Amino acid sequence: MENIKNSSLNQKKENSNDNLKYLLDLNISKINKDDALHIAEKLRDELNRNNYYYYIKDNPIISDPEYDKLLRNLFELEKKFPEIVTSDSPTQRIGAPVEGGFPTVTHSEKMLSLQDAFDYDELKDFIDRIYKDLNLKENEVEFVCELKIDGLAVSLLYENGKLVRGATRGDGEIGEDITSNIKTIKSIPLRLIPDYQHKIPSVLEVRGEAYLSKEEFKRINEEREDQGIFAFANPRNSAAGSLRQIDPKITADRKLNIFIYAMAANEELVIDNQYEVLNYLKEVGFRINPNIKKVASFYEIKNYCESWKDKRKELPYETDGIVIKVNSLVYQKKLGQTTRNPRWAIAFKFPPEEKTTKVLDIKVSVGRTGALTPVAVLEPVVVSGSTVSNATLHNEDEIKKKDVRIGDWVLVHKAGDVIPEVVKVITEKRTGSEKPFVMPDKCPVCGSDAIRPEGEAVRRCASLACPAVQYEAIVHFASKSGMDIEGLGPAIIDKLLKENLIKDASDIYYLKYENIFGLENFKEKSTNNLINAIQKSKNQPLSRLLFAMGIRYVGEHIADVLSQSFNDLDELMNAKFEDLSQIFEIGPRIAQSVVAFFKQEQNKNVIEKLRKAGINFKSDHKIFNIKKEFDKKTFVITGKLESFTRDEAKALIENFGGKVSSSVSKNTEAVIVGSEPGSKLADAIKFKITRLTEQDFKNMIKEK
Ligand code: NAD
Repeated sequence: MENIKNSSLNQKKENSNDNLKYLLDLNISKINKDDALHIAEKLRDELNRNNYYYYIKDNPIISDPEYDKLLRNLFELEKKFPEIVTSDSPTQRIGAPVEGGFPTVTHSEKMLSLQDAFDYDELKDFIDRIYKDLNLKENEVEFVCELKIDGLAVSLLYENGKLVRGATRGDGEIGEDITSNIKTIKSIPLRLIPDYQHKIPSVLEVRGEAYLSKEEFKRINEEREDQGIFAFANPRNSAAGSLRQIDPKITADRKLNIFIYAMAANEELVIDNQYEVLNYLKEVGFRINPNIKKVASFYEIKNYCESWKDKRKELPYETDGIVIKVNSLVYQKKLGQTTRNPRWAIAFKFPPEEKTTKVLDIKVSVGRTGALTPVAVLEPVVVSGSTVSNATLHNEDEIKKKDVRIGDWVLVHKAGDVIPEVVKVITEKRTGSEKPFVMPDKCPVCGSDAIRPEGEAVRRCASLACPAVQYEAIVHFASKSGMDIEGLGPAIIDKLLKENLIKDASDIYYLKYENIFGLENFKEKSTNNLINAIQKSKNQPLSRLLFAMGIRYVGEHIADVLSQSFNDLDELMNAKFEDLSQIFEIGPRIAQSVVAFFKQEQNKNVIEKLRKAGINFKSDHKIFNIKKEFDKKTFVITGKLESFTRDEAKALIENFGGKVSSSVSKNTEAVIVGSEPGSKLADAIKFKITRLTEQDFKNMIKEK
């Protein structure tokens, strides 16, 4: 019975792959009117299905070039037979309608998509059309070239200079209200600062691209792989997945950033071109991409695009093209828009680099949480500027889904320009000698059982003593984002473990000169350097130590939050689940994991050894902008504040070096009293604690 069910499932999968291939390979010029309607419907179904996976699930099942090809085929077919166009065709629509989860928001001005140009001929056609439509000659129209940041579009609404709403684009008309999540992005100003030259209109709506850096994308995916959750396909999906979290604490743990690139029409401001819009936005406190250029000919536009083709790979964030916009707002208005795109802007898309190579083998690596990850060993090939000889296959389900076999020819790319990944198998090149891969049920390093819990995608080594787990944990401990011990790389750690000189991370601090000298070509100078680096790392801030310990769900940001919430490691170790979950940004999952970590005897022993070695356990309360009125002082808030939410007020106090507590004690510096205060006001009176009005608080913030 099970076999029959599986074979019918496989049949369905094959049919859907065949369908996709058929739709991708269409030759539009050969399609006659009788077939056009039916084929257009098939394309629409396929595009809508993929829109759902991409925009709602943040987990695409086909590549972007494949999606773009399907959309282009539909555009061409509808252009050939305009009578078949429907108002709900994906060529007429933006994104996908929003789906539950968040309250909805109707945009004051539609948030559009962009027309694409995939080569310079298409770009030239667009520029020529602008001249024609405006009845002007070359050099008479100015353009602005901007990098096309690969993230997701968000709209930010300010009333009287205060951020009141953040929303996704959704289907262009209706988006999702993600204000709480938006507020976790530190580069988004919660308040705008007017000056004598730049007034702030009473209502201001700006648009920008929220994104994740390449580094953060890699970190999140590594963490997800460790946790057995599907890896994001690219930083765009990862940023969207992070911003569309019901729990803002998860969003806060991902270091999202933003570039603002537009402003909705505003009658209170006198600005007449895009370049000035960007300058104005920069002056009032928004983060604007610095690589903007004003140009006046196709030649200059092409030069700008060419200049970024390779240079963009060095940027810390991903870009997927160049946006070219008509500079004058008057001309923009004249050119107008379609249902989907403005007629005054275009996105020149860089071709994603994909290379063909052969899978020589599939190996299994074991991570620091014991997760088994299959990795394709590839015939080396240069992709996006570096040689790729391994590509992650994520987990056994992914191998099954892509049907990757040893000996296959595959297409590889770098997900988010960073992580080498197998895009698909070139099945046409199969000879029959390819070998299917079977995931081992024993750990390939220590031979213990590798168990895949029900409902999880990842198989894990069940042994805590697995040398691979220990090796990865120590590599993580010494890494740049951890204790940053220069010179203590994977090779020397491997040697130290094999020579039985260390067993866990704390043993690093008991190494002597003679243990290191001679290992892995360590001479006198390099040995001394390493000893010094180990010594130096003893003074790393507590946040680094916490991250280096490798506590599950504690990334760099959460380690920072924890280190700021406790005076030292001992206080954190003694914290109960309830204490931890009271901290802003610490959810039950993290709290549980922290408590469980410090309960483990093995971990307690390591910590004791670290203590004896003199490692810094004290919090440095790393603060961004210390003010003496707040520094190291504890405040309590009671009642409703008019101009701030509780979270905003708390963030401000913490930003200036203070702490917010939920109860009044004799250690409280002051109680900030809003309208309808609770029992904390009575406590303040009882303990003779200073009471501040909201205005006092505002003055304290403002004072220089
Ligand atoms: P788009 O990404 O091609 O362009 C429009 C967007 O560019 C804007 O909404 C804005 O957010 C962004 N942008 C970045 N920098 C900008 C700047 N400086 N100025 C103006 N805008 C800027 O269009 P789209 O509709 O957002 O998405 C289409 C993309 O999504 C395509 O690349 C497509 O391949 C992909 N997609 C893939 C799938 C799939 O299944 N793989 C499904 C749907 C969409």
